Amino acid sequence: MTAVQVPGTPLIEAGQLVSTSPATGAEAGRLPVASDADVRRAVERARAAGEWWAGLGFTGRRARLLRWRALLAKRIEQLAELVHVEGGKPVADAIVEIVTAIEHIDWAARNAARVLGPRRVRSRLILAEFSGHLEYQPYGVVGVIGPWNYPVFTPIGSAAYALAAGNAVVLKPSEYTPATGQWLVDSFAEVVPEQPVFTTVHGLGDVGAALCRSGVGKVAFTGSTATARKVMAACAETLTPVLIEGGGKDAMIVDSDADLDAAAEACVWGGMTNAGQTCIGIERVYAVDPVFDAFVDKVVTRAGRLTVGPEGTDIGPITMPGQVDVIRRHIDAAIASGGRAVLGGPDAVQPPYVHPTVLVDVPEESAAVREETFGPTLTISRVRDADEAVTRANALPYGLGGSVFGRRRAVAIARRLRSGMASVNSSLTFAGMSTLPFGGVGDSGFGRIHGEDGLREFARAKAITRRRARSLLPSMTFERTPTDVARLVKVIKTMYGR
Ligand code: NDP
Repeated sequence: MTAVQVPGTPLIEAGQLVSTSPATGAEAGRLPVASDADVRRAVERARAAGEWWAGLGFTGRRARLLRWRALLAKRIEQLAELVHVEGGKPVADAIVEIVTAIEHIDWAARNAARVLGPRRVRSRLILAEFSGHLEYQPYGVVGVIGPWNYPVFTPIGSAAYALAAGNAVVLKPSEYTPATGQWLVDSFAEVVPEQPVFTTVHGLGDVGAALCRSGVGKVAFTGSTATARKVMAACAETLTPVLIEGGGKDAMIVDSDADLDAAAEACVWGGMTNAGQTCIGIERVYAVDPVFDAFVDKVVTRAGRLTVGPEGTDIGPITMPGQVDVIRRHIDAAIASGGRAVLGGPDAVQPPYVHPTVLVDVPEESAAVREETFGPTLTISRVRDADEAVTRANALPYGLGGSVFGRRRAVAIARRLRSGMASVNSSLTFAGMSTLPFGGVGDSGFGRIHGEDGLREFARAKAITRRRARSLLPSMTFERTPTDVARLVKVIKTMYGR
């Protein structure tokens, strides 16, 4: 860290992490940096709190989580303002993010008992003398490591589900958005003052690494694929299970029967909301030849209308100062390799802002097509047909989300995308549907947050069998006789030998 501070670059001063606005440099918050010992202590305290929390049962937890979501809803403007100041995103984008998070807390609270609670499962003819029981028990403490780009939605996507499942949560927010993470935890403590069920540890990446090694029951990581590898390596030392929500390079496919106005609108929003700093943001588009020119025109018209700046605009600053260099490199390399900027281009990069940029004719090997850009930029490529679009969309190691515009074949194309999620005739919408699981494949990670899968991700299946009658075909005992075994063979041949 340098003493001369670039706005938005976190600074450590007298043991405090100082978070500043990327637009103005105004201080957004000061949080104590945790040492390794602090992290261990936080996890130990959380372990005791987690036992108390688990003991409340689904009903007790549901009531408290619903009170928390009510508090968030009441204070939505206050939280949105903090997210805006600390991360730079427009207030309207912050509101949409918080609304989505509130929806997830509500769903997780209301559905945890149904999805995770004890239930009987059917027994079969083999071992029919036993009943089967299944329930999902919490891990104890879940460590949540979050990024800065959606500092409310991403931690809550894991934390709300982990809490509803009966775990305590220790959150390590990004060093770029610690004040927002602290706000979430403080608001939770207002409705659950009894025990430190949801707490934070602050600092740089080493604090996240310490959390991985702290003895938590599971780590839920959301961030870049490069850091995900380090997190997995640290968790491997203690066989700590890990959920990875990694990066992406999501594609949109525009088929010949698409509504082009709707596609252009969703493309510009999906690619440029939050200045393009969205894991599931649309970064590349494959439009089929007959509609390509008209589609590009519509995208350029819409994207060209977006306003850029610190207040009251569509696009705010790039949150992480260093990301501006990545965006610049991608635009420059795209143009150097034969691409054309039909909107924006190299001059669009005016730190801390990047103006909307639309690139065409960019070779598929270019960084702008292959790597996560995380800026308000789009590449649009002409393809022969939907098959070629799918092949190109699926050609990268990433596989997070995606979008398809079209009528007749759109759902079939969405199914063929190598991704964890897809939206048909919209973009990014799967993230807000709390009933659907969220997560990727390949370099975008594994495991799922949200929905029923998201609840199960934060609990261990516990299987119990219970004897209800004497065994007619004793087999799992040394008391069995050769006749019992012969009878077993006969039964299995009758049942399965055909
Ligand atoms: P990073 O991977 O840089 O950081 C993510 C978190 O990990 C931060 O809290 C960071 O702390 C922490 N961290 C850094 N090093 C370590 C380490 N060695 N061990 C443990 N934790 C560590 O990602 P960004 O914050 O830059 O977020 C952007 C990325 O997140 C993009 O790739 C984006 O696609 C992805 N993302 C994925 C989502 C998904 O759901 N799949 C959703 C949102 C974003 P610190 O900030 O202090 O370095």
